[in-house]
Amino acid sequence: MKVDDIKTITVVGAGTMGHGIAEVAAVAGYKVYLADIKKEILDNALEKIKWSLSKLAEKGMLRDSVEAVMERITPIVNLDENGNYTEEFAKVLKETDVMIEAIIERLDLKQKLFAYADQHAPEHAILATNTSSLPITEIAAATKRPEKVIGMHFFNPPPLMPLVEVIRGEKTSDETVETIMALAKKFGKQPVLVKKDVPGFIVNRILGRFLNTGCHLVAKGLATIEEVDAAVRYVLGLPMGIFELSDYSGIDVFYYVFTAMKERGFNITPCPLYEEKFKAKEYGMKTGKGFYTYPAPGKYARPNIPKELAGKVDPVLILAPAVNEAAWLLRNDVASKEDIDKAVKLGLGWPKGVFEFADEYGLDKIVEALRKLKTDLGLEEMEPDPLLVEKVQKGELGRKTGKGFYEYGEVEEIKKNTIIIRKEKPIAWVILNRPRKYNALSPELLKELGEALDELEDDDDVRVVILKGEGRAFSAGADVTAFAGVTPISVAKFSRRFQELTLKMQFYTKPIIVALHGYVLGGGLEIAMSGDIRIASEDAMLGQPEINLGFIPGAGGTQRLPRLVGRGRAKELIFTGDMIPAREAEKIGLVDKVVPPERLDQEARALALKIAEKPPLALMAAKYAIEYGLESNIWAGLALEAHLFGLLFSTEDVIEGVTAFLEKRKPKFKGR
Ligand code: NAD
Repeated sequence: MKVDDIKTITVVGAGTMGHGIAEVAAVAGYKVYLADIKKEILDNALEKIKWSLSKLAEKGMLRDSVEAVMERITPIVNLDENGNYTEEFAKVLKETDVMIEAIIERLDLKQKLFAYADQHAPEHAILATNTSSLPITEIAAATKRPEKVIGMHFFNPPPLMPLVEVIRGEKTSDETVETIMALAKKFGKQPVLVKKDVPGFIVNRILGRFLNTGCHLVAKGLATIEEVDAAVRYVLGLPMGIFELSDYSGIDVFYYVFTAMKERGFNITPCPLYEEKFKAKEYGMKTGKGFYTYPAPGKYARPNIPKELAGKVDPVLILAPAVNEAAWLLRNDVASKEDIDKAVKLGLGWPKGVFEFADEYGLDKIVEALRKLKTDLGLEEMEPDPLLVEKVQKGELGRKTGKGFYEYGEVEEIKKNTIIIRKEKPIAWVILNRPRKYNALSPELLKELGEALDELEDDDDVRVVILKGEGRAFSAGADVTAFAGVTPISVAKFSRRFQELTLKMQFYTKPIIVALHGYVLGGGLEIAMSGDIRIASEDAMLGQPEINLGFIPGAGGTQRLPRLVGRGRAKELIFTGDMIPAREAEKIGLVDKVVPPERLDQEARALALKIAEKPPLALMAAKYAIEYGLESNIWAGLALEAHLFGLLFSTEDVIEGVTAFLEKRKPKFKGR
């Protein structure tokens, strides 16, 4: 049967999922029968559908009227008092082209239903199941048409969630797969194909690993609940933390799903905290208490997760087992990498796919994290998947090498005498490269740095520049050996030239992120202060020590430091020449974010990539409005802002941004 031959859909089970699926099918224009065992359940389901449709209509998301859609749905009681299927149900099945089963999660009941449907439905009819954890193949075995039995796994609530996992049983035919993929699209959904009937399919396997890892870290005392959730929410940028999500969806729900998956052979060691909560009947929001506490049972208040905790746990530790699972799925040809990424984005609301995350953080880091977890948690299942190991051995580490799970184009490295330019498009690194001299700023280095910035400014494919130092420091300051035999005039000229470089950075047309570690002193700090955003590793030491040599900062330090930290703190730093650690610098606003040393590069890259997706001209305009505005007065600043704001409406990127927003897709900005 082709998708265009489908006219009538019968949804069996009118509970949480069934009524939503019936709604989706009716909205798409199909004639729908909705079957359940009792009239009251059906009445309740129809009420809910009507309410949901009226909400969609209010938002302008419904083509037909609520009444017209409701008219397409016919409720039917399918069991008699003796628990047998009714004659009427048999008649409905005779008319059915596709049955979508959403009854309770019991294999015996599903098999009984499928056997019955097989007897009464026409030969061409496809029988689909919405099961979360039962094998499609075993359900299909109850019929004489296993080639026409398939999994169609919706997400809750079906009218709003765009993802459908379409699962192939062992005997499902290509035609059935094709028709159901197409039907899901007719429903306005985005299907992904699960080519093998593995427990948990894609989303629940990846989610299972992810939740379980965060939970194990807490159970082992390696992190707190809030620290894990802060890393997930604020660093990975997921909609909810691990414990927050567990409470919200119901710890009991996850407990059942994961237990069922484990029983089917999913190799996971359940974190003991889930079982504890389950046994204590602390299911989360619905009982008023789970990992967090709620105002009352069923009353939701978003848990307070302090942002300051965001850097406490390495997000790669939490992410790595999810990547490992995804690698397993890919290696075993369960799904394509594109479908796996689509599934986590649409099914779990992740801002990036699991492979996209992996490529960004680096596959070497993922493997390292897995090995660490294996030791720290004592869990064999953390053994890195052979696919990951192989990729690391081949040097396919992700963005930084130009290839990981995806290809990013060549990484281009240009080595100058004192700096390295690394283009990892759409971002570029400029690396100060005099490590044996703590990247002391010689006239040559300053010249090369200026030229590198010019070159990168002209390269349209580079959207964001990251500046960092090679070796043990960002930069310990000006190269004093270059000061031998100088005259006051030559020093003034050096200072002017250096200042020009800092101005070039301040008014550069692309964002500059400065990644700081080790010494960030004197001229090093002055360069850092001219960038747009400063990320420092915990080991960074910052200061303007010039006073100790008898002079003062000469490359903007006396101007930019007070602008960043206020006059008092700036004078204290310049008068004493003292160095302060990164954390203190963060408190006074000298750096914007502090991260552990091993995560400096990855955090800088992640931020740069995030910014690189934004419209380049708007980024430039924002930067100009801020920088010129702050250096003048509010009238000039506001006038500039208004003009730039207006000017942007002449760009193609605004049209793209607004269109993508309306079409609910990710915009692709071109900088035009
Ligand atoms: P539910 O308990 O809310 O609804 C099940 C409904 O099926 C009930 O109304 C029940 O009366 C009815 N029912 C039971 N036996 C029946 C029969 N023989 N004929 C007709 N109706 C019958 O359950 P749910 O959460 O909607 O889950 C249904 C299915 O969907 C399960 O297989 C589940 O694994 C799967 N699923 C659930 C979710 C979720 O988030 N709840 C998500 C995806 C898939």
